[in-house]
Amino acid sequence: MNTKSIKAYGTETAEADLKQLQIDRRAVLANDVEIDILYCGVCHSDLHFARNDWGMTEYPVVPGHEIVGRVTQIGEGVTKYKIGDLVAVGCLVDSCRTCNNCKNDLEQYCPEWVGTYGGYDKHLETNTHGGYSETIVVDEAFVLSVPQNLDPAGIAPVLCAGITTWSPLRHWNVGIDSKVAVVGLGGLGHMAIKLADALGAHVTLFSRSTNKIEDAKALGADEVIISTDDAQMEKAMGRFDVIIDTVPYEHDLNPYVSTLNTNGTLVVVGYLGPLDPMLVTVPLIMGRKSVAGSLIGGIAETQELLDFCGKHNITSDVEVIDMQNINEAYERMLKSDVKYRFVIDMKSL
Ligand code: NAP
Ligand code: ZN
Ligand code: ZN
Repeated sequence: MNTKSIKAYGTETAEADLKQLQIDRRAVLANDVEIDILYCGVCHSDLHFARNDWGMTEYPVVPGHEIVGRVTQIGEGVTKYKIGDLVAVGCLVDSCRTCNNCKNDLEQYCPEWVGTYGGYDKHLETNTHGGYSETIVVDEAFVLSVPQNLDPAGIAPVLCAGITTWSPLRHWNVGIDSKVAVVGLGGLGHMAIKLADALGAHVTLFSRSTNKIEDAKALGADEVIISTDDAQMEKAMGRFDVIIDTVPYEHDLNPYVSTLNTNGTLVVVGYLGPLDPMLVTVPLIMGRKSVAGSLIGGIAETQELLDFCGKHNITSDVEVIDMQNINEAYERMLKSDVKYRFVIDMKSL
């Protein structure tokens, strides 16, 4: 198969900083779109993956799954896009397309889904590489249209931070007067606040950080509860219909379960792994409460969200950085020192 060698940024080990690498992209196949990447958001998952936090990274890894760019080439079978279109790619670049999940627009739950990085590219017979790179080649079925009225840098985080919070908000039927809480004000958390607010919900932020109260309110939160303050947590008992928990590391879910109303659901989207302390079932049983999880969103749902953002003028609050500053950005992200998503200007590569 013909390939093109391009510049990218990634790492060959869990311990090393990210640095410039050369990677191969496949030549455009019949249904492929080649995209010149303009912007790529920096997700906490990129950091988990680069540093092998989940124990499944194969190196080299080139992270990045919040991609916005322009179409530069199309295969002869492409019908949805033309050269020059502003398009986006999120966390998925392929799936089996025949299983029930694929047929129901839930490609993210397909047993054969292919991640934008760290997945398996069946054409190149190697790992997929993400958006910290000059270009990407993706089947048009996994390429999305970007609303023309929105800032391309600000829309990039919608492709992961946005859809990961939108999908559970929609699945658990959040609408006018729903009582929604969001745990953690980072990339996912700030999109969750904006989206739940736009859906008409009453939105509360749970945060460890007393310095984020004003920002949370400006983003659309009606109130902020400092999660380390027992008195404030006590007052929140039994209040929420849906809680979206974006915290990336092990933490105690039990105090949040207590703040669910009867029939309420705590949706974990941040932390991946066993719980310590363990979950106590008593409040679940006594209040018919649920603890659930949710993974990104399917292609149709991601397009629905992009269109919703276009209509409601919603973008992410971003700090645009050069590619060369990615290692510093990771350290700052670990300290929650970003308002509220880093986005790489890919011209800098
Ligand atoms: P982020 O920007 O770093 O935000 C995480 C926020 O969680 C922080 O701003 C902080 O908010 C809070 N936090 C951080 N460390 C904490 C700790 N040790 N204890 C308590 N709170 C803590 O991260 P992100 O990009 O939003 O990603 C969040 C998580 O979601 C990551 O683990 C990522 O891998 C995962 N993720 C999952 C999916 C999915 O499909 N399920 C998709 C994308 C990302 P406060 O300062 O307000 O407390
Ligand atoms: Zn992500
Ligand atoms: Zn499938």
